[in-house]
Amino acid sequence: MYYSNGNYEAFARPVKPDGVDNKSAYMVGAGLAGLAAAAFLIRDGQMKGSNIHIFEELKLAGGACDGIHSPHVGFVCRGGREMENHFECLWDLYRSIPSIETEGVSVLDEFYWLNKRDPNYSLMRVSCNRGEDAQTDCKFDINDKAALQILKLFMTPDEELYDKRMDEFFDDDFYNTNFWIYWQTMFAFEKWHSALEMKLYIYRFIHHIEGLPNLKALKFAKYNSYESLILPLVRYLKAQGVDFQYDTRVTNVVFDIKPEKKVAKKIELIKKGQSKTIDLTENDLVIITNGCNTENSTLGDNDHAPDFSTKDGEGGCWELWRNIAAQDPAFGRPEKFCSSIKETNWESATVTTLDDRIPPYVQKMSKRDPFAGNVVTGGIITVKDSNWLMSYTFNRQPHFKAQPKNQLVGWIYGLYCIDVPGNYVKKPMKDCTGIEICEEWLYHMGVPVDQIHDMASKSANTIPCMMPYVTSFFMPRAEGDRPKVVPDGAVNFGFVGQFADTFRDTVFTTEYSVRTAMEAVYTLLKVDRGVPEVFSSVYDIRVLLDSTSKLMDGRKPIEVMLPSLFTGIAALKGKMDKNVVTKLLKRYNNV
Ligand SMILES: Cc1cc2nc3c(=O)[nH]c(=O)nc-3n(C[C@H](O)[C@H](O)[C@H](O)COP(=O)(O)OP(=O)(O)OC[C@H]3O[C@@H](n4cnc5c(N)ncnc54)[C@H](O)[C@@H]3O)c2cc1C
Repeated sequence: MYYSNGNYEAFARPVKPDGVDNKSAYMVGAGLAGLAAAAFLIRDGQMKGSNIHIFEELKLAGGACDGIHSPHVGFVCRGGREMENHFECLWDLYRSIPSIETEGVSVLDEFYWLNKRDPNYSLMRVSCNRGEDAQTDCKFDINDKAALQILKLFMTPDEELYDKRMDEFFDDDFYNTNFWIYWQTMFAFEKWHSALEMKLYIYRFIHHIEGLPNLKALKFAKYNSYESLILPLVRYLKAQGVDFQYDTRVTNVVFDIKPEKKVAKKIELIKKGQSKTIDLTENDLVIITNGCNTENSTLGDNDHAPDFSTKDGEGGCWELWRNIAAQDPAFGRPEKFCSSIKETNWESATVTTLDDRIPPYVQKMSKRDPFAGNVVTGGIITVKDSNWLMSYTFNRQPHFKAQPKNQLVGWIYGLYCIDVPGNYVKKPMKDCTGIEICEEWLYHMGVPVDQIHDMASKSANTIPCMMPYVTSFFMPRAEGDRPKVVPDGAVNFGFVGQFADTFRDTVFTTEYSVRTAMEAVYTLLKVDRGVPEVFSSVYDIRVLLDSTSKLMDGRKPIEVMLPSLFTGIAALKGKMDKNVVTKLLKRYNNV
């Protein structure tokens, strides 16, 4: 497997790998990673679909990419899906997946046209004082000390960030910036999370610095992620003859480990309550999604809070990974990620408005007609003075195909949900029913207090969802805590998803799951085509200069970082005017 960029490789089709007709593949997990791996096996590896088997412990595919309409519960999605143009592997996949909306076009075509016609941006990114615009005015508000803290993290080698927390690099100078409000709530970072992950995120999304404050960096699909991303992929795979086995939990994969090679020999699983084993040869590939950030997530309803009794480390995916990890140190250390639910949980809620009382408040906050079919809030609105650090979003409506025309479906989440009471509802979010979460949200939109309870209970259906492990991949980590996508010496297996280790990309993204899937397939089948490298904006001097100036709200970064050099440059000004470097620095507002 090798990385590439540019059109030559992007449009090329690889030759059929040797021996592929004699191979078969078993996927553990039907999340985006497992599905994408199956699609790459077919498209690029030219494996027969009928040779591919997907085991999923749940009753449907999609994993974290959900969107359920249950007549008894209502509409539910655990999260929104912020996406961007440089999800290189994801778009490489979806250019080949037919749309289920429009005949003859791909999911990528559809997404591209939609986001051209109706680009995303927010008209109120942060609110305060019960429904007022916090007027952050697209400013980052980074003072000199905070700028130096960011620079220090940026310049620290990865190895020195192993097992370090973010708060070992940042203090209140940084945490009081608008930058942190935007960043923390957009990506769900906490002060105790990994400094390494924070650095990787800055590197990965540096080309989007300008688009952070109003979220114009983001793109969204037409519907929820299940209907827009998962259903077309499942339909494509089924049409190719792929075998889906639901209600099938893999409990272990047994390996034969020798110093020079590692071979997966047996899969142990429980299918619909029956134990079963599958013996494997070196021609049987096993692609394992190890770890799952929605493991043990629980739903409440209007009248009940979700159950939150999961103990640290509990859950089928962790059990499987522990069984695998016990066989070789190269298979990672799941306990690094799943042992501290108090640091990895948060809660979201799907709210459906049932009549015409709440939509005017959504319109007031978004500054757009929520029924127009276009972008509504344009990404999340963060309530800066919310005790739960609440954010909410209404994407283009309808968000579900089955949604009645007069209803809106939105998504709320709180980053601090286990021990702080709300501003209106005097309980931690985790103990709240759907109605109470809706009340807290209505309060922050400025609904008169005497109408809040009636509106929350009669004009909305709110389904809370507690996710104990939702940010587990952000826990501080060191080399070897995640297994490599294809561990050294592995002959017929690989790891995919958010807890498999690949170079430079950032977790908590759909792209990461698809990238690891592509890398696993290309390595195991020796597919002779480049995997698109992570977008290399951080190595582009123009992006670095431009983003540095934008981060400083237009101030010249050199004034902050190297004041003595700045004086020197000023003295040399006349002589430097015609220098190409100075021209570049000037173009991007650095001198
Ligand atoms: C709330 C939320 C918000 C998000 N927001 C964004 C966003 O804005 N932008 C973005 O790009 N990404 C976002 N993501 C991340 C993205 O959706 C996920 O990273 C991605 O979908 C993960 O896919 P996966 O296949 O790697 O893992 P998962 O989706 O976790 O799938 C793993 C699958 O494996 C199954 N499984 C696990 N163990 C076993 C077993 N032992 N046997 C059989 N089956 C098993 C699980 O049931 C699951 O279906 C978000 C995720 C969440 C939860």
